[in-house]
Amino acid sequence: MNHYPAEPFRIKVVEMMKTMSKEEREAAMIEAGYNTFLLKSEDVYIDLLTDSGTTAMSDRQWAGMMIGDEAYAGSRNFLHLDAVVKEYYGFKHMVPTHQGRGAENLLSRLKIKPGDIIPGNMYFTTTRYHQEANGGTFKDIIIDEAHDPSVDHPFKGNIDLTKLQALIDEYGADRIPYVCLAVTVNLAGGQPVSMQNMREVSALCKKHNIDIFFDATRCVENAYFIKKREEGYKHTSIKDILLEMMSYGDGCTMSGKKDCMVNIGGFLAMNDDTLFARSKELVVVFEGMPSYGGMAGRDMEAMAIGIKESVDYAYIAHRVEQVKYLGDQLEAAGVPIVRPVGGHAVFLDARAFLSHLSQDQLPAQALAAHLYIESGVRSMERGIVSAGRNKETGKNHSPKLELVRLTIPRRVYTYAHMDVVADAVIALYNKRESITGLEFVYEPPMLRFFNARFKPL
Ligand SMILES: *Cc1c(COP(=O)(O)O)cnc(C)c1O
Repeated sequence: MNHYPAEPFRIKVVEMMKTMSKEEREAAMIEAGYNTFLLKSEDVYIDLLTDSGTTAMSDRQWAGMMIGDEAYAGSRNFLHLDAVVKEYYGFKHMVPTHQGRGAENLLSRLKIKPGDIIPGNMYFTTTRYHQEANGGTFKDIIIDEAHDPSVDHPFKGNIDLTKLQALIDEYGADRIPYVCLAVTVNLAGGQPVSMQNMREVSALCKKHNIDIFFDATRCVENAYFIKKREEGYKHTSIKDILLEMMSYGDGCTMSGKKDCMVNIGGFLAMNDDTLFARSKELVVVFEGMPSYGGMAGRDMEAMAIGIKESVDYAYIAHRVEQVKYLGDQLEAAGVPIVRPVGGHAVFLDARAFLSHLSQDQLPAQALAAHLYIESGVRSMERGIVSAGRNKETGKNHSPKLELVRLTIPRRVYTYAHMDVVADAVIALYNKRESITGLEFVYEPPMLRFFNARFKPL
């Protein structure tokens, strides 16, 4: 028997969920154009669409909301957040933003010139969008193992140093404004990066005078994997692991909606004084004053408290092991999933699950739709639809990974809910041949997965 840690919290407030018949769910899915993003949340039983902003805040965070200082400038909650970000992330400066993409927008505008190359360990949708909107080209330098859902590797998010060196040789360090180092790698399945790899990437970048900016969105989950899997970190606290990780970079973008445990918020952090000065100039155009970015005072307070709670071992151990609990059940039943299970989600391998469909029949989109119809469980496509089109050729990107993401919100669901999800996925797997493919009826020009509509083939 595997051991999974019980919830390290008591439940103080509850939200009742609605149950619907299969016929009602089928009608809701047709109305949503077979896109789980377009379902009404009320019509969802267990919502595993995303762990973004869906965290249950603690009693302390809610108490913090009551001491929001909504002054236009110089809010005490900003001063608190500023101090906490510096203490836990170790960077010299920060500006708050409304969420992660706000920070990505600022960083991309400040650092990227047309013709630049931005290497990264697999793309993320909004990150790549901002890089490309500023004339840059994203280049994937993740290790090959990350593209194979069946390969076990403890640090599948690692950067391949040979690929990074090859880009430096081909384009020259001058055309690489920074390396975007994501910890963990969302689209690879929440896979972590080892400390050793960060150290090596940092050494190589230093040699060529290239900056490193972390996508730190899921950095606490990454720190937990380092503690569990990497030699020499067993007795190091999550807080100290996080600080060491961040010490290998020049700054980070952060979505507070993930590992900072709030419903909205984010920040851009950096060490460079000039970059900080320019960030403060730019943040007023897109977000707000440098002392609130896009956030209310109360939200900054909740985020400051959330950051402190996020490095608590009992919290993060339960969070990551609960995800693994779901993965272990599916694996035991023979359902094809990305291995090993990552930090925030279990990813179904839709290519293998629906092997009778080709990628242009949008297997992951179809699987997500049918999982909802069968069970009321909402998931998300992470495959050809999310990957979008190449901006030069107009052709679909065809990612190797065609996945459905079952993302577990932080502190929201119990192990019993995970059992319900596992049973639903297994039941669907047993009648997988009945699932047909989909085609677009409406395709938005950018970040199409959010609003696209489909119909069955
Ligand atoms: C969610 C996420 C982002 C974007 O953050 P938002 O707060 O949604 O704008 C960037 N990178 C990763 C890895 C993410 O998971």
